[in-house]
Amino acid sequence: MRVLLAEDDATLQRGLVQVLTDAGHQAVVAGDGIRADLLLATDPFDLVVLDLGLPQMDGLVVLERLRRRRQALPVLILSARDRTEDRVRGLDCGADDYMTKPFELSEFEARVRALLRRGQSSIVRLGRLAWFWDRREAVVGETPLALSRHELNVLEALVQNPGRVVSKETLAHRLGEGEDVAGDNLVEVYIHRLRRKLDEASLEIRTVRGLGYRLQTVEATGQHD
Ligand code: CA
Repeated sequence: MRVLLAEDDATLQRGLVQVLTDAGHQAVVAGDGIRADLLLATDPFDLVVLDLGLPQMDGLVVLERLRRRRQALPVLILSARDRTEDRVRGLDCGADDYMTKPFELSEFEARVRALLRRGQSSIVRLGRLAWFWDRREAVVGETPLALSRHELNVLEALVQNPGRVVSKETLAHRLGEGEDVAGDNLVEVYIHRLRRKLDEASLEIRTVRGLGYRLQTVEATGQHD
């Protein structure tokens, strides 16, 4: 899982990166609020660990902006602000959990695990696309994608296997559910339409000759740590 760690305290940063890495996650560190905001707007993450007292942009503003973009990934707030009203405000802004500093690293690890488990089942994020399993909806940035039933079926099959090849037969089968089995060129038609619609999502559907199609993120240049 990919975790954005927005924390400006170098000692705490090191400790938390260690915990996340030991748990098998990839930790990306942002040392200020503007950097965190930029990374969240452009890169896919499964969880944000968000310090409230960040330089340049307060953690609560980062959180508000995240939710305004309709990004639903889980957020764990870390804060030295331990008054009840701060805690309530953080949760009201859309945080999923709140830890007051100082805390035990073992507790941090347990909360991260719980949040990732919760987030995993309902949403997949790829590039700028969020796929909501429960309502079968694809959202790019703030905008829900207008997709036909067939386009939805194809995209769902691809989203279930990000970075892996999905065969043409599988896609044809998805298109043909409840109907006669769909032909190869019908698959091509819907892939073509999806490609256009995914243009804004930093995603591409690669043709893997003779095998099928693969959904993958377009490598963002110059935005990686
Ligand atoms: Ca801080």
